[in-house]
Amino acid sequence: MNASSITDSPDGLRVNLDRIKSDIRELSEIGAHGEDRGIYRMAFTDADMRGKRWLTERIEQADLQAETDGALNVSGVLPGTSDLPRILVGSHIDTVPCAGALDGALGVVVGLECLRTMRDAGVVPDRTVELIAFSDEEGRFGGMFGSQAVCGQLNPERLATMSDLSGVRLQDELRRHGHDAFSALDAARDPESIAMYLELHIEQGPVLDRLGKPVGVVDEITGLFTWSVTLRGEANHAGTTPMDMRHDAFMGLADFAHEIPRIVDENGSARSRATIGKAQILPGAANTVPGHVEFSLDVRDTSETVLDDLSSACRKALSAIARRRNLMFEFEQKSYLPPVAADGQVVRQLTESARQLGLDHQQMPSGAAHDAQIMGRMVPVGMIFVPSKNGQSHSPAEWTAWSDIEAGGNLMLQAILQFAAAGHPLTTH
Ligand SMILES: [Zn+2]
Repeated sequence: MNASSITDSPDGLRVNLDRIKSDIRELSEIGAHGEDRGIYRMAFTDADMRGKRWLTERIEQADLQAETDGALNVSGVLPGTSDLPRILVGSHIDTVPCAGALDGALGVVVGLECLRTMRDAGVVPDRTVELIAFSDEEGRFGGMFGSQAVCGQLNPERLATMSDLSGVRLQDELRRHGHDAFSALDAARDPESIAMYLELHIEQGPVLDRLGKPVGVVDEITGLFTWSVTLRGEANHAGTTPMDMRHDAFMGLADFAHEIPRIVDENGSARSRATIGKAQILPGAANTVPGHVEFSLDVRDTSETVLDDLSSACRKALSAIARRRNLMFEFEQKSYLPPVAADGQVVRQLTESARQLGLDHQQMPSGAAHDAQIMGRMVPVGMIFVPSKNGQSHSPAEWTAWSDIEAGGNLMLQAILQFAAAGHPLTTH
């Protein structure tokens, strides 16, 4: 196909895999540690700021308009011919500590490549298309900071009190880079100015890899609640306290852990997950009956009703166990994120585009939280997944075959071309 026919027929456009590869490689050098081969680009660290500068340069080199808002979200804009609500496509470039190269970064690099491909081919969309890399998705200061800023979900009190696990305040960290944390309030957008938000992300689970399919179309993003649970009994001598006279807090935790599969079977769905990921047994001596346990509980599902049912089933089970074992039980809800459904029309278009490109695809839920979850409360959203090798993520082992990355990139490009046409019947909101 020659250059003019590409311009004549945007449907024939394809992303350039070599440019994606080189961008992924360059970005993965920023914040990389030689020793454990992990990437340390946690939000608003020097490495993250270098990543933002790298992205801004890349956007300018692609002849797109580079912008940074008050939440330090970095954007690249391909202006459209109309003032119709724009299409946002993006993800994040901050990472967890010791991360792999693709979580977040892939969605940003692919989004950039889609806009660059359109720009190079001389495609001028009816709707403006904006690449956006959201700040602090991974949670150094709580997570999904940039998308919450865009959705107007921040307030001065939160901004004043946000701090990371080592007590560094967001305000101070941003001031160190010459920025005012309260400017994040200015990043809020008018929902009417955004037609939709699209995000490509690695699956971070094993489903697509196991099915051998290159792309997933996300229909629902899971909601979750996390609790910190405390069971209090009585610490006592492991030798002198008879078995029937113990108030063993750890046995309460063990009973509850054992009931989790039943709770999920009886109250959950096939998409439910429940995990105790962290536990502390106190006083923590081999010869002492534990008098106190604290543990985390992370429960997820794509239905809010199911989440409510699971929450009350967990509460009931814990209080029954506490009664039986003579323990006191209390819990604190640490976080709650409601599930979000992808927009039906976006799901249909992505499915149709995948079919036209001849890509074997799978409709599936997202078990991980993403910026799309925040954006989905304000505007229609859609997500494309590409397979994670062996389901691995948040680790230097995280990887996706280049051919799958190319497939996902082409699907994103097709979707943007379709949605950016003024005639496309988008969902109104
Ligand atoms: Zn991510």
